[in-house]
Amino acid sequence: MIRTILMLCVLALASPGLAAPLTPAQVFARQTYAVAPHIWLIAKPAVTDPPFEGNVVVIEQARGLVVVDAGGAPVSGQAVVAEIRKLTGKPVTWLVYTHYHGDHNLGAGAIRAAWPGVQIVSSTRTRENMTGPPMAYVATYAKSYGDMAAFAAARAEDAKLPQALRDGWRRTAQAGPAMVEAYSDLKPHPADLTFESRINLADEIAPVEIAYLGRANTDGDVVVWAPRQRVLAAGDIVVAPIPYAAHTFPGDWVEVLRKLKAYDFKVLVPGHGAPQTDRAYLDRLIAALERVRAQVALLAKAGVPLEEVRKRLDLEPIRKAFAGDDPWLRFVLAVVFTGDLISNAYKEARGETVVQGKG
Ligand SMILES: [Zn+2]
Repeated sequence: MIRTILMLCVLALASPGLAAPLTPAQVFARQTYAVAPHIWLIAKPAVTDPPFEGNVVVIEQARGLVVVDAGGAPVSGQAVVAEIRKLTGKPVTWLVYTHYHGDHNLGAGAIRAAWPGVQIVSSTRTRENMTGPPMAYVATYAKSYGDMAAFAAARAEDAKLPQALRDGWRRTAQAGPAMVEAYSDLKPHPADLTFESRINLADEIAPVEIAYLGRANTDGDVVVWAPRQRVLAAGDIVVAPIPYAAHTFPGDWVEVLRKLKAYDFKVLVPGHGAPQTDRAYLDRLIAALERVRAQVALLAKAGVPLEEVRKRLDLEPIRKAFAGDDPWLRFVLAVVFTGDLISNAYKEARGETVVQGKG
């Protein structure tokens, strides 16, 4: 009898249909990749599975490190600290937030604990967002992910769904308990120092220029440029392979993407996803935004209601461009990109404001 139960347990663990929960350390684990001399990317490898964790870029200056973003939970920040310590004994002197979304800054406590002298810097708007209502969602983050994990576990068992979609839900359910645990004690660390448009961190080996180029992914995004290495950290203005559009300003976003194209970069590091060495993805993103903006503007000006606009848009070229035929990527694209992009483009066409922190 005991033997049979043990066998069932072994089968359950081996079966892709049943989810064996993972620990926070496994789920939020990071790897380090060299980007250029004195510059590294510390990333969560599985970028299209929850938790969606922002990239961290480390730039080594003569006397210390400039770190761009901090990971999205305390455990994630701890993983970032461990990876940095493998690279160098230099302290983190600057931590820059690209924007207010928690997947880029809720790991900051671990960085501050490891290097108490660190100065955190962001745009003025990002600090306002992090100290105001837009950041309030962190209080219910653990519960949201608990609900999502339960939903995901049911979907993983739904025989009517395509296998690739069920596999995506299974991976989500497997990570769920770890996300709930990781998000249970969150504390934002707003910037110590803010700026409106530009700030330079001079240095002899890796000078750094931080710039606000306009509203894009949020109303306070900044990019971090290392001109000597020609590396541009773009934050979530660029997210790959599936872009992200929750709190975006589509028209301004296109203008900012054109400004990114004008940087003479060798490597562009997106807010999530793999480093890019050309402008192909920027062009794909601009084309998608312009397509949706143009179609939505025509319909919005004709007084067509938003839900009807959603039905009438032809999104297939965008789905093909970003997700191919992968059912899971198509699902993620609808949830994090096209749905929000349409509502934000609709607001833009009608002269309404996109409220940060709300859909
Ligand atoms: Zn992000």
